[in-house]
Amino acid sequence: MRARTDRLIALLPDAGADLMLISDLVNVRYLTGYTGSNGLALVGPRTRTFITDFRYTEQSAEEVDASFERRIAPQDLAESVGEVLPEGPLRLGFEDAHVSVRTHARLRELLDERVELIPTGGVIEKLRAVKDDAEIERIRAACTLADAALEQILADGLIGHTEREVALALEFAMRELGAQRPSFASIVAAGPHGALPHAQPRDAVIEPGELVVIDWGAELDGYCSDCTRTVATGPIGEQAQEVYALVRAAQLAGVEAVRAGRDGREVDGLARAVIDDAGYAEQFGHGLGHGVGLEVHEAPRLSKRSDDTLAPGNVVSVEPGVYLAGAFGVRIEDLVVVTETGCEILTGLTKDLRVVG
Ligand code: ZN
Ligand code: ZN
Repeated sequence: MRARTDRLIALLPDAGADLMLISDLVNVRYLTGYTGSNGLALVGPRTRTFITDFRYTEQSAEEVDASFERRIAPQDLAESVGEVLPEGPLRLGFEDAHVSVRTHARLRELLDERVELIPTGGVIEKLRAVKDDAEIERIRAACTLADAALEQILADGLIGHTEREVALALEFAMRELGAQRPSFASIVAAGPHGALPHAQPRDAVIEPGELVVIDWGAELDGYCSDCTRTVATGPIGEQAQEVYALVRAAQLAGVEAVRAGRDGREVDGLARAVIDDAGYAEQFGHGLGHGVGLEVHEAPRLSKRSDDTLAPGNVVSVEPGVYLAGAFGVRIEDLVVVTETGCEILTGLTKDLRVVG
């Protein structure tokens, strides 16, 4: 955890800041270990301060890395920032992507003239994109847990249950297996409903002979998993079989394309070409994948517009889909960790079409 703060401090001169104020709670957690709901960190070459209020005195003593000096302040933490800053003129970086206009104005009002506020948003997100071994192990454990939860659900069958019942049972199974929570609202979408990439589970009963898209993830020790499988509830039509095989081929091409040094656009293009060549370009309307870690959507992105270059330690999803309005949808998603020579898949379930009763 100390190494993360060291890496951040090394980036501050380029970001134009002497010191950085970290207010986004996910980033605070990443640097300090704190999991509560009110906390700030100040980080600079000679400053490692964590501020919270009295409600978190004990929790922060347990969680916050010992390299940080801890301060207990009134609930409005911004009031205490000025007390921690060193003397003299100072360029204070702040997370412009997370700080509201109102909070910025308040900080400006609280801090004296010598402090210049510099937007340094995205610096920590860039660090977070490259996972260390401990983080990769946590994500792997979250994936293993989510895999086991789906196996339990499929063993009970899908036909005759509503999408909502299946989603709820899946989330219950993940909690029972030790997850803190689902990493996002689970998607269970049968038949034509599967053609909506972000379908919300309905009260509709799953029928025999449908394709069912299930997209789910577990949060474990703060880290997320993300996986999608499309299963059949009995024999499906010829086009559905073809599209399944196509998406599977595109997904394998995507996994094959992931390696350090490639950019997100290239990887997206290599998988997308498989779907485009089969004439379904218009039916794959989203990006190929996204980074996953403390948050379920983070850097780097795999898409037509991505400038991100993959590096060892990135964890990304590879999730092509084909969506035929009014008919069905197919999406297959794995989570992979980027290595020097390729990638390693963290989600372990089969991608052959499974038939579940
Ligand atoms: Zn997903
Ligand atoms: Zn995803």
